[in-house]
Amino acid sequence: MKNDETVVSWRAPKWDQEADFVVVGYGGAGATFAFAAAENGADVLVLEKGEQGGGNSVCVAGGLIMTSVDEAATFDYMNWLCAGQTDASVLRHFVSGLKEIPAFQHKLELPLKPDPKPFAAPGFFPEFPGAPGSDSVKGMSVVAAPGGAGLYNAIAAVAEKHGARVQCKTTVTRLVQNPVTKEVLGVEAISAEGKAIAIKGRKATVIASGGFEADEQMCRQFLTPCPIYFLGSQNLTGDGIRMAQEVGAQLWHMNAVAGPLSWGVKSKRGHVYVTYDLNRIAGFGYNSGAFKDAGSLLWVDKHARRFHNETTDTADVRHGLANRDTWLATTAEVPEFTHVPAFQIFDEKVRAGGAAMTTLNSRTPAWSADNLAELEEGTVIRADTLEELALKCQWPDIPGVARAGHLDPVALKATVERYNANCQAGTDPDFGRENFLVPLDTGPFYAVGPMFPTYLNTHGGPKHDAKQRVLDHRDDPIPRLYAIGECGSLWGPSYNSMGDIAEFIVSGTTAARDAMEQHAWDD
Ligand SMILES: Cc1cc2nc3c(=O)[nH]c(=O)nc-3n(C[C@H](O)[C@H](O)[C@H](O)COP(=O)(O)OP(=O)(O)OC[C@H]3O[C@@H](n4cnc5c(N)ncnc54)[C@H](O)[C@@H]3O)c2cc1C
Repeated sequence: MKNDETVVSWRAPKWDQEADFVVVGYGGAGATFAFAAAENGADVLVLEKGEQGGGNSVCVAGGLIMTSVDEAATFDYMNWLCAGQTDASVLRHFVSGLKEIPAFQHKLELPLKPDPKPFAAPGFFPEFPGAPGSDSVKGMSVVAAPGGAGLYNAIAAVAEKHGARVQCKTTVTRLVQNPVTKEVLGVEAISAEGKAIAIKGRKATVIASGGFEADEQMCRQFLTPCPIYFLGSQNLTGDGIRMAQEVGAQLWHMNAVAGPLSWGVKSKRGHVYVTYDLNRIAGFGYNSGAFKDAGSLLWVDKHARRFHNETTDTADVRHGLANRDTWLATTAEVPEFTHVPAFQIFDEKVRAGGAAMTTLNSRTPAWSADNLAELEEGTVIRADTLEELALKCQWPDIPGVARAGHLDPVALKATVERYNANCQAGTDPDFGRENFLVPLDTGPFYAVGPMFPTYLNTHGGPKHDAKQRVLDHRDDPIPRLYAIGECGSLWGPSYNSMGDIAEFIVSGTTAARDAMEQHAWDD
């Protein structure tokens, strides 16, 4: 053996199954890839960890997608939002791909709008009007607003109609990489029957496994040490990110996140519900009942003090950029998070008026309209007086965040009295609340909590080039490996509404187009 040669003794596993393309995850990105490749005659096998596909893609407003009416200006806008974290070639390709989305949607067998046109919407299209090129960013809806899971279901339907095979309850655990050529040859997985299996991807393997929202430790390391909740799928545990790291991928945007958007609580069944009405995103108004005439609710922090306008419009939150500093404010001398945990306090008027909390996840059961199921399970706390309620609003020791405690009865009473006086005066000099200034004065009194800042989704993962090929630490593509959608999203520190749906469509079709050019490695 010559000195500069290394002997590698490695054998590919015995393959249990094979396909041209193995796709890890059946959310919007995986379904888009599967459709685009199967439509062109490829044999696609999608492996999905959940009982059914959907991931975060069944949470979206669905009908609306970000679009551009001037590619050069939208590039400037995206480049500003990504603040130098995303390569220009990737951004240019994405912006140019936006114009192909309507043609993609036309294939989805969904009812179409008669004369769809790009439109502006304050706070959404564009989300950051002060950024260069913002006027070029619009919303677009070619299909007649399917909402929620509608868009995802339509993409999955055409993918399967064109022959894409889908195997649910199958968790991919590892990418199989040839140690010499660095090619990714397929994956290892645990089947629905609990069996370890190996699946060959003859042409390529595609990571479409979403983000790391449900991996508490990754959230703590990459986003914030403050406990946070996410509204979407609990299957998003960063698996694709770890697998990509194992084969030498470079990561990007690991601290990029959409949120915090609201304050949330986790039910005993593990579902996350949030405070102000996220349906406003879909333009339906504050229809939770917590608002309207029964708006006698407020948020208090662990010091039993208000800290924010409770009726802030989702459009003003700008995917968390407008409130992150306030909600995640820290107190230096302890150190701890000043406002965490928080509680939503309300009276009998709100309790009887409708659901006090809501969700945007179409797979999460609705919060009950009379709030009684949640009262019974303990997610809602009730007491005859505010002082008694304060003592019941408790939280455990959370190192670095909050010492164990309960709300201070005197402070809570004072906070409510001040709020009620503001309501009588018809003005909120403390936090500028203009809507639903209804006194909190009719017992019994209620609280939801402890609540934590609640987010939509993460954007970090393996870095990719304009063709969605995963890049190693030298910016060279790892052969036969693609990443699409939220797993290694192009979005950096600031995110514009409806850009994630746009991305799962553009990235899925882009990767399919490039991957179709590959020759099978076992030919
Ligand atoms: C409440 C909410 C509202 C949103 N609203 C909008 C909106 O209106 N507009 C917009 O543009 N974006 C919105 N987003 C963001 C958007 O939904 C996501 O960014 C996008 O849908 C991600 O698509 P994806 O296919 O990359 O991931 P997902 O749809 O999350 O799919 C990933 C899939 O991979 C599977 N998986 C994970 N690990 C494995 C494994 N090891 N093996 C096999 N399968 C695995 C998961 O189970 C999941 O099904 C919203 C997000 C949330 C949570």
